[in-house]
Amino acid sequence: MERINIHQNTRLFTLIDKLEQEHSLTPSEYEYLITCRCKEAAEILAEKAVSLRQQIYGNSVYIRGLIEISNICRNDCLYCGIRRSNQNCERYRLTAEQILECCEEGYYLGFRTFVLQGGEDAFFTDEVICGILSKIKKQYPDCAVTLSLGERSRDSYQRLFDAGADRYLLRHETADYEHYQKLHPPEMSFRRRMECLQELRATGYQTGCGFMVGSPYQTAAELAEDLKFIEDFQPEMCGIGPFIPHKDTPFCNMAAGDVELTCYLLSIIRLIHPPVLLPATTALGTIDPDGREKGILSGANVVMPNLSPVSVRKKYELYNNKICTGDESAQCKSLLAKKMESIGYEIVTDRGDIKNQIEKTSHPE
Ligand code: SAH
Repeated sequence: MERINIHQNTRLFTLIDKLEQEHSLTPSEYEYLITCRCKEAAEILAEKAVSLRQQIYGNSVYIRGLIEISNICRNDCLYCGIRRSNQNCERYRLTAEQILECCEEGYYLGFRTFVLQGGEDAFFTDEVICGILSKIKKQYPDCAVTLSLGERSRDSYQRLFDAGADRYLLRHETADYEHYQKLHPPEMSFRRRMECLQELRATGYQTGCGFMVGSPYQTAAELAEDLKFIEDFQPEMCGIGPFIPHKDTPFCNMAAGDVELTCYLLSIIRLIHPPVLLPATTALGTIDPDGREKGILSGANVVMPNLSPVSVRKKYELYNNKICTGDESAQCKSLLAKKMESIGYEIVTDRGDIKNQIEKTSHPE
């Protein structure tokens, strides 16, 4: 028995070394890393991930102000609380003025990236979004704008980019075709989702993909495919967070994802693609009050406090028990700043674009 354990552990630690050196594993090696996960491996991976992140980004944690512009959505993703068939969801949409007010407050609080996220709401035509983008860019030329508005046409991505959008977040959700179909209604297409990511990249956006950890029916083999996809796609940003059930969805009785596995995967993703901008997500902070700190200590380097008007926060409920829905933006930001300070990190005020160079430290040994 013991011999087998030693043998397995040797393989596990050899794979971690290989990942550190080559930033690449085969799908079956990723799968092995996931299925044979143990505390010791998690600690070693986190240590390597943190040291790599340190070399590139130092102790800086970037903040992104999240503005949830609409919870009206034409899609019916089985996991999502704002899916179109949820009759209990009280719908809202922010006006351009409200969005600009959020930016104003955010700018004052030190945010230099605004993330406009929402359901796929037909009201937000290219014209409407371009109008909002040009106002934000005119008022705050030193800020980056990230969009997270789902699937649109290639032309639309181009128009929004030309109007000033810098980055686009579109989680691939799962890199496995069959798993994708279990999470989405038949009218949604895995192929189209993946195509959108390629189009965003080709348009010139800094592009973010990502997935939920512990989404229903997910297997280690599928997670391995997600990791392989990230390795191939080399996204500038990657959002991963635990799946959390929402009571008014078909997945209401499914188990939530796991904090430790999410952190383990954050470390692996840092080793796969060292410069990636990797958020410790709100979902991670929701399943564990120390989740975001744990995420940073596993290799993440971004946090995304909420800048939405307090009046709509509760309504943008992708999953139940979402944190910070009653707080003012300033409270959200100062809470996170304190949390980061308590673990020796510093929230920084700059756009926080991807760095491809290792920082030259100014501190001699
Ligand atoms: N309409 C946009 C934004 C989606 S919301 C788009 O399609 O990209 C942002 C992310 O929240 C989703 O990509 C999904 O991965 C995550 N999410 C949705 N429901 C969730 C749940 N129940 N638990 C955890 N994360 C969820």
